[in-house]
Amino acid sequence: MKDFKALIERYKLSFLDGNANEEHDYETLAEGQSPNIMVISCCDSRVSPDLIFSAKPGEIFTVRNVANLVPPFEEKGEFHGTSAALEFAVTGLKISHIVILGHSTCGGVKACLDHAMGEEDTTHFIGSWMSIIKDVAEKAKEIVAKDKTASDIQLVTELEAIKESIQNLQTFPFINDAIDAGQLDIHGLHFDIGSAQLRILDKETEQFQILS
Ligand SMILES: [Zn+2]
Repeated sequence: MKDFKALIERYKLSFLDGNANEEHDYETLAEGQSPNIMVISCCDSRVSPDLIFSAKPGEIFTVRNVANLVPPFEEKGEFHGTSAALEFAVTGLKISHIVILGHSTCGGVKACLDHAMGEEDTTHFIGSWMSIIKDVAEKAKEIVAKDKTASDIQLVTELEAIKESIQNLQTFPFINDAIDAGQLDIHGLHFDIGSAQLRILDKETEQFQILS
């Protein structure tokens, strides 16, 4: 799909020539949404939560941002897109699960790592947004220096960033209230684009395991 015309053609193919409207029951969906799962995923065009989990419209409440990050709870800034979505999902929709979905070869994580390696940040917004995990990049460097080969630093940072976002989720009072009430569970996943392998965070060991 190379241009806007192709985008419109895809719509026509699905909805005007095809039966996507009936297939997904949009008439019923128009009455409202009641998803039980929220996924926080990257903007990366290769990582679509709906495709990875074979989800239908109405099943997954999705937030996509650069590098699938959750910022810590704070009320000073004015434009909190991800935090607003979290508030609506937890207090409004009363979803039961929040999934942080990371992925391999993440450009946002790479930018953060490059910056941690001393490269100058020339961006308006990306550097500031990725500073959410600047300590993670430093931690990943230490982990790789001790235990892994240098080529793993991107993967280690991606996995540690998922853990950081899970910790940040637990700085939101309404999320902690829902967890304490037994109404909400949090999960960490990492999708490898090349192999389509999915890693799952084991909450006991705090290690990721490849799903088999
Ligand atoms: Zn990404």
